[in-house]
Amino acid sequence: MKTIPSIQVEVGGKMFKLSAEKLESGPPPRLKTLCKCPTPEVDRPSYLFKGILALYQTGELHIPEGSCPLAFLKELEFWEIDISLMADCCYNRHVVSK
Ligand SMILES: [Zn+2]
Repeated sequence: MKTIPSIQVEVGGKMFKLSAEKLESGPPPRLKTLCKCPTPEVDRPSYLFKGILALYQTGELHIPEGSCPLAFLKELEFWEIDISLMADCCYNRHVVSK
């Protein structure tokens, strides 16, 4: 049996695991660059990173439950993820409605 290589990344003191395959198929930017280091580590809020990670896992970007939309938008900026990737449900609810 072939094991799928996984990548561990530490965000805000918490470990997150992601398959290398998913990482490759996900959006280009910062996380990929970061995961080239032997021990990827970044000091960002881990509860917001869940939303970023889910994008790689599911291909959909949603705002993590209970988090502030504005904080999450900042996080997208940091990870260089385009807001256009956000699913309509979250986009319409949190970004457009003002
Ligand atoms: Zn949503």
